[in-house]
Amino acid sequence: QNTINKIAAGEVIERPASVVKELLENAIDARATAVTVEIKEGGTTFIRVTDNGCGIPREEVPLAFLRHSTSKIKSVEDLFTISSLGFRGEALASIASVCQVELITKTSEALTGSRYSIEGGMERPLEEIGAPEGTTFIARNLFFNTPARKKFLKTPMTEGSHVAELVEKIALSHPEISIRFIQNNQNKLHTSGNHNLKDIVYTVFGREIAANLLAVEAKKQDIAISGFIGKPVIARGNRNYENYFINGRYIRSSIISKAIEEAYKPFMMQHKYPFTMLHFTIEPELLDVNVHPTKMELRFRDGEMVYRMVYDAVSGALAHKEL
Ligand code: ADP
Ligand code: MG
Repeated sequence: QNTINKIAAGEVIERPASVVKELLENAIDARATAVTVEIKEGGTTFIRVTDNGCGIPREEVPLAFLRHSTSKIKSVEDLFTISSLGFRGEALASIASVCQVELITKTSEALTGSRYSIEGGMERPLEEIGAPEGTTFIARNLFFNTPARKKFLKTPMTEGSHVAELVEKIALSHPEISIRFIQNNQNKLHTSGNHNLKDIVYTVFGREIAANLLAVEAKKQDIAISGFIGKPVIARGNRNYENYFINGRYIRSSIISKAIEEAYKPFMMQHKYPFTMLHFTIEPELLDVNVHPTKMELRFRDGEMVYRMVYDAVSGALAHKEL
């Protein structure tokens, strides 16, 4: 109960990228190893997410669209463990209330798949159909029944770029999953799923950045850091290339950003920011959980220690190589 209160409910669906985020997270929770995201008109009229995960048993399909307080995550600390991304048990219900939704799903045990559709809360009866193992979720015409909210959507181009950015972040945070992104029938991204972070950096950011990376590996009791930082020659004029993930989530921390930027200071011109791609694995007890999970800012019990560790790891990598 307490957990539920701390995780303030509220509208999670703001724009196409929020729909894609929830669907992708569900696919990851379903242990998919390959996921395809397809959008048209920036996702405003068409979003399809196909995964090869565990599928939903037929009798549970309608239930998945009900708001459920017993969600995958049972405590606030669980929010920051790697095991599960879902935490509110209301994403599908929210999406179904503002989109025309179609779902095709099959578990490995089932002989046939199920097809289900729901439009503005009106369900159609479950159908039995042939389907591969996994789940396909289609969301059409976002905010078709709430014109006031639809007005706040930006152009398909802008909405599409928000989706693209989100898919890239998820691809970078899950090198073990093959992720494909198709926009207006064009292939925009396809990662191999072979755990190679460098490959994904190449795919997302291009050759120049991929050719100028320094490896970072550090471990200290309950924190591990692993990934790459860019040589100062590929510094950028903004912070968009400062990427790091905490327990698989793209979450911001002013302490980590500060530590990274301070470590780079001796090598950088003013107003230049580094490229980083770092994965943090941190024991949840070290995180300050009194933070709203949808806000991307995270605090630490011992910020000083985290700062030191990041600073040392980054300056170590910068010091050892010829730049
Ligand atoms: P939550 O993820 O917080 O549990 P959601 O509303 O996102 O809540 O999803 C509801 C439920 O539907 C999930 O708990 C899961 O059991 C099921 N589900 C949703 N998407 C998928 C999927 N792609 N594969 C398998 N099961 C899914
Ligand atoms: Mg979910």
